[in-house]
Amino acid sequence: MHDLYIDGAWRPPLAGGTRDVVDPFDGRVVRTVAEGDADDARLAIAAARRAFDDGDWPWLPGVERGRCLDRLAAAITADREHLAALETQDTGKTLAESRMDIDDIAGVVRYYAALADKDAGEVVDAPTPGLSSVVHREPVGVCGQISPWNYPLLQASWKFAPALAAGNTIVVKPAELTPLTTIRVFELMDETGFPAGTVNLVLGDGATVGAELSASHDVDLVSFTGGIETGQRVMRAAAGNVKKIALELGGKNPNIVFADAEFETAVDYALLAVFLHAGQVCSAGARLLVEEAIHDRFVDAVVERAQRIRLGDGRDPATESGPLISAEHRAKVEAHVARAIAEGAELRCGGERPSDPALTDGFFYAPTVLTGCRPDMAIVQQEVFGPVLTVEAFADEQDAVTRANDTVYGLAGGVWTSDLARAQRVARRLRLGTVWINDFHPYFPQAPWGGYKRSGIGRELGREGLAEYVETKHVATNLAPQPTGWFGTGRGAGA
Ligand code: NAD
Repeated sequence: MHDLYIDGAWRPPLAGGTRDVVDPFDGRVVRTVAEGDADDARLAIAAARRAFDDGDWPWLPGVERGRCLDRLAAAITADREHLAALETQDTGKTLAESRMDIDDIAGVVRYYAALADKDAGEVVDAPTPGLSSVVHREPVGVCGQISPWNYPLLQASWKFAPALAAGNTIVVKPAELTPLTTIRVFELMDETGFPAGTVNLVLGDGATVGAELSASHDVDLVSFTGGIETGQRVMRAAAGNVKKIALELGGKNPNIVFADAEFETAVDYALLAVFLHAGQVCSAGARLLVEEAIHDRFVDAVVERAQRIRLGDGRDPATESGPLISAEHRAKVEAHVARAIAEGAELRCGGERPSDPALTDGFFYAPTVLTGCRPDMAIVQQEVFGPVLTVEAFADEQDAVTRANDTVYGLAGGVWTSDLARAQRVARRLRLGTVWINDFHPYFPQAPWGGYKRSGIGRELGREGLAEYVETKHVATNLAPQPTGWFGTGRGAGA
């Protein structure tokens, strides 16, 4: 077993560690992979450092880097079914979702491949005659990239594609629960022909490998997607060498439905917003805010359909939702729901493990709807990251905006209304990085993604996602230098 990819070669971890990867559908061990530690991370960082400081990659013309990424995108597309099957095995999500993820990943790599040669810098109109002033765009250096388990390869691709397009070298650490697709993509990278040391993969624990990537003084930038508390740890560790940081953290995303919204479509999307991938989505619309006039009818319609969601094996085309990622994570979701009920929320459906004997070995939890929720409840303030919808009634536009903004998060949200002027007004007042009007969830490589407030720092995707990985250097050249006579000529500085 050689699951670490360092300096252009597969190698076993120095201390010989291993970790079992489990299928969340039935708890079965599907593969045993390498488990690296801080020493492996240091080896990978050193390789990336050499490749950046002495290698060709940062200095290749952008068009060459773009070609390399295009080859990778083609390889990902050619391997689509295999990658999708691995992602479903690792996460439990449906194959349909995994296929969409793989297509999106290839799209992200293609998007940044196309941008690789588009913006080398600019010529500045200097205020002094004879002074040439040029701004160069350069890579930041060695980038540590730490990804979560909910969209394992998708989140990694939002990091590695722009970093490589800009000429950086990288060390990637996937979540320990879900490394399979990242390993596969590194096999494809190996075939694609990146110079040795440009791309490195270290599997392992967050507290060892992740912490080393965050703290190492040889890493110039750390990009992290995960929970707030881990993000704070990364930020503290990164302070040691003032490395650049990009943080994509959680969300507690409001989905606001006004009484004049198209009813059936808004109900349909309320379900899609929260129950996609069993709610394990950073942008899940987990807080449903419904205008009082339609509240009861709307909730009844959501509950009626939530109870009919087909849980099962992500490989079965009839399945609508898979399991949660682990038994430990499900226990956290259960604790959140128990506390909400103790704090006065009314359980309208779910709130338990499904009774179907075919699902008992997996980490399933029934789609859950809680009504009568208030902003002071923990369930309304904290990210549950499971199939749990909280519902609040609101009185008017102002009340909706106040409630929607009343969490520490600021990632994404939706507004449903047939009054587009109101939709625009509300969208501008929401402290969120993404607002969907009469929609929920669409994201694409061309538009930036990221959070206000504690949902993060920086942006991924779009031109902003590339800018995270770019330094700007100003080079000023005096084309006709003349002595100034400022010092030692007896003239004085003058009045
Ligand atoms: P997590 O914070 O537990 O782990 C994320 C990654 O950080 C993993 O690879 C983990 O090994 C690593 N890690 C753990 N401790 C570390 C440390 N001390 N130093 C460095 N790295 C460390 O998060 P998770 O449970 O894997 O993912 C779920 C969270 O991710 C949710 O909060 C979700 O909202 C968030 N998320 C955000 C986005 C976004 O775009 N904003 C996208 C996906 C997930």
